[in-house]
Amino acid sequence: MFDCAIIGAGPAGVTAAIYLRRNYFKVAIIEKNCVGGQIINSPMIANYPGILPTDGASIAYTMSQQLENYSPHFISSEVIDIKKDDHFTVICKDEEVEAQTVLVCSGMHHKILGIKDEQKYLNKGISWCATCDGTLYKGKDVAVVGGGMSALETCIYLSRIVNKIYLIHRRDSFRCDEFLVNKFMSLNKVLKKTEICFNEEIVGMNGKDHLEQLVLKSGRTLNVDGLFECIGFEPNTNFLANLSLINQSGFIIVDKEGNSKVDGLYAAGDVISKDVRQITTAVGDATIAATSIIKRLRNVVF
Ligand code: NAP
Repeated sequence: MFDCAIIGAGPAGVTAAIYLRRNYFKVAIIEKNCVGGQIINSPMIANYPGILPTDGASIAYTMSQQLENYSPHFISSEVIDIKKDDHFTVICKDEEVEAQTVLVCSGMHHKILGIKDEQKYLNKGISWCATCDGTLYKGKDVAVVGGGMSALETCIYLSRIVNKIYLIHRRDSFRCDEFLVNKFMSLNKVLKKTEICFNEEIVGMNGKDHLEQLVLKSGRTLNVDGLFECIGFEPNTNFLANLSLINQSGFIIVDKEGNSKVDGLYAAGDVISKDVRQITTAVGDATIAATSIIKRLRNVVF
């Protein structure tokens, strides 16, 4: 029996594992992909104190080394259900994990546009990760859809690789900090790679076996080899369907200690219902939740 089963090894899960292991609790950390979560897709992280601007994959690598130093029991699997009686049973695809407490740090996954023919081009021209797939489009024309931090960071990253970028945004202002907007605008003044298409939406996609063309709401067509979809995320909470602790959008509702309606099942990071989703806030949520779990496991009365 573990003291705590942590689901997800992104910044929140790794933070919690460090706190719990530094107090010698028995911890299982379950991750279906790799350590780092969404940050491995980020071409540049420049807003975490103590770390000079670097790519997300490098931070994820350091996190995995740090995690190894604290040797939690690492399980490479996907969680499909959680049951509670006098303790929790976390049901994974390949095994079951018994634990006194659970901390869900399962983060989010990319949203897709949901338009006709999109499924046909997923991974055949449609991508979500410039760091992973950018070089496939060296010297080619691509589009980026979205108007948040991911979209602008993707344009900045791609502008040194591709020939031309069409940035397609459904409104006429960006949803991100001014510093990034200024950085993007100044770089674009010099490189002149990005054409900003404000108040536009993608309504159609064409191509034989691979994406070749986008059709916009205005009727304009764009010939592109790739489309980077940067339109936000949805929470990874399908495995919680049997426990009524998520809001209408699928995010987990927690109290100020990180505890959910199912007592002993805590959550932290992007997967919880909150306004600000950053690495800094994920790490903060996880610190609070792990500290509460430690007090609980030591039977400290609040
Ligand atoms: P986001 O902030 O949710 O922005 C999504 C963008 O896509 C918005 O501009 C939105 O338009 C647009 N959009 C959403 N659904 C759409 C649809 N169906 N069709 C067309 N456009 C659509 O997503 P994000 O940029 O991926 O960022 C997610 C979170 O991660 C944010 O909290 C962000 O601050 C954080 N983040 C942080 C960093 C960093 O700190 N380095 C980097 C990347 C992301 P509207 O504006 O009209 O809603």
